Amino acid sequence: MKRLFAFLLVVIVGLLGVMAARALMLPAPVGPAAATKMVAVDEATAAQRLSGAVKFATVSTASGGPIDTAAFRGFHDFLATAFPRVHASLTLEKVSALSLLYTWTGADTTLAPIVLMGHMDVVPVPESNLREWTHGPFSGDVADGYVWGRGTMDDKVTVLAVLEAVEDMLSRNERPARTVYLTFGHDEEVGGRFGARAMVDSLVRRGVKPALVIDEGGVMATGAIPGVSGLAAVVGIAEKGYLSLRLTARAQGGHSSMPTERTAVGALSRAIAALEANQFPLSLDGPTRGMVEAMAPYSPFSQKMVLANLWLTGPLVARMMARVPTSAAMLHTTTSPTMLSAGIKDNVLPPEATAVVNFRIRPGETQQTVMARVRDVIADSMISIVPTDSARTDPSPISDPASPAFALIASTIRGMVPGQSVPVLPYLVGGGTDAKYWGPHSSNVYRFLAVPLEQGDVSRIHGVNERMSVKGYATAVTFFSQLMQHLDQLK
Ligand SMILES: [Zn+2]
Repeated sequence: MKRLFAFLLVVIVGLLGVMAARALMLPAPVGPAAATKMVAVDEATAAQRLSGAVKFATVSTASGGPIDTAAFRGFHDFLATAFPRVHASLTLEKVSALSLLYTWTGADTTLAPIVLMGHMDVVPVPESNLREWTHGPFSGDVADGYVWGRGTMDDKVTVLAVLEAVEDMLSRNERPARTVYLTFGHDEEVGGRFGARAMVDSLVRRGVKPALVIDEGGVMATGAIPGVSGLAAVVGIAEKGYLSLRLTARAQGGHSSMPTERTAVGALSRAIAALEANQFPLSLDGPTRGMVEAMAPYSPFSQKMVLANLWLTGPLVARMMARVPTSAAMLHTTTSPTMLSAGIKDNVLPPEATAVVNFRIRPGETQQTVMARVRDVIADSMISIVPTDSARTDPSPISDPASPAFALIASTIRGMVPGQSVPVLPYLVGGGTDAKYWGPHSSNVYRFLAVPLEQGDVSRIHGVNERMSVKGYATAVTFFSQLMQHLDQLK
């Protein structure tokens, strides 16, 4: 017994020794950037232009559905007036009638170009919560240090910030080291099947092989990393896939006074309950593992011991992350029942009951593997399972967090907050973006918007009281400006 105890003690001490050694061997965190001279953004004027942009109700409701083309054309005209130098110096093509593709020819056209993406459309505002908005969703009010309205975070902010940065460089007769394409879609919120896809196809046909593509998706925030107090940024290196399945239960209908042994409603309920009880397995791998590993050098020592030893602590870390829905979603394919319908009268057994379940597919799985598992879990011949008409996609390829493109984004972020050691981490984007259309054509696709998020901001996106701080907006303009001024560093 004594021997066993001694043996266990040796094992535990040895293990702790190994863990501590690995924690000590972690690379040093990337140090603070030196202060550089940055062009000052005229915050008030820039905010006014963002405000003007919000006033156009460029709403997307359904892919291929009706579009308020007048709102989009009005918005295009607004951009031409607000950014005269851009429209005098860059080539503009309208793609699928309403999407905008600008070409800014660089100093050296033999270098691979870059692509800055954004989208002009916004999600609708439900009538039911209109009264909860402090300022009208299309008012563009500038009040209390914020620009208010739909699109101020998602994603007119990107479109306007990019144009603001280009206009400013043109005013100083600056030209980027390599060609810059600006692609602004008109249907991102409904899948981008007509806007982004057509623009990507068009550039690919021209032989464009971008050295860097940036779209929305990653963010920066203070205190975003547990145990790390300062500002941190996450840059999307992949996005999850998307699949909605319609489950239909069929049974004999009839009078509710004589129910059959199995009803359509009962069978469908059982199927949904089975899916919720059998979640897709959690796994700390791919971009999410990379994110956790990249956090380690910035963490306090006790946390370093855990993060530097994922070979041992991985399951524990995954379990902790799984407690919070936002981090849980990074670990697995998510299951969300979103629509349900059955029955027309209280005393009639419906012959059919249907539900839609939405899945966000993590890298490593596909639409096919998800369908197969759903069939296995439900295992009921009364239920048919078919994809809905919504756009569906496999997870995107994973871009390299050690690439020159990622390095340029990271150094641009760090350069904006000199004197601070800012973690810039790779990240798996849970929602879909227009960047997915580059997936098959480029391995240099990243997702990031340099707006410092504030408490509660995430729920404003697609929600009530979407707003952008005037200061935060200036940060986004500075980011794109600094990035475009350093394209020579992209190797
Ligand atoms: Zn968006």
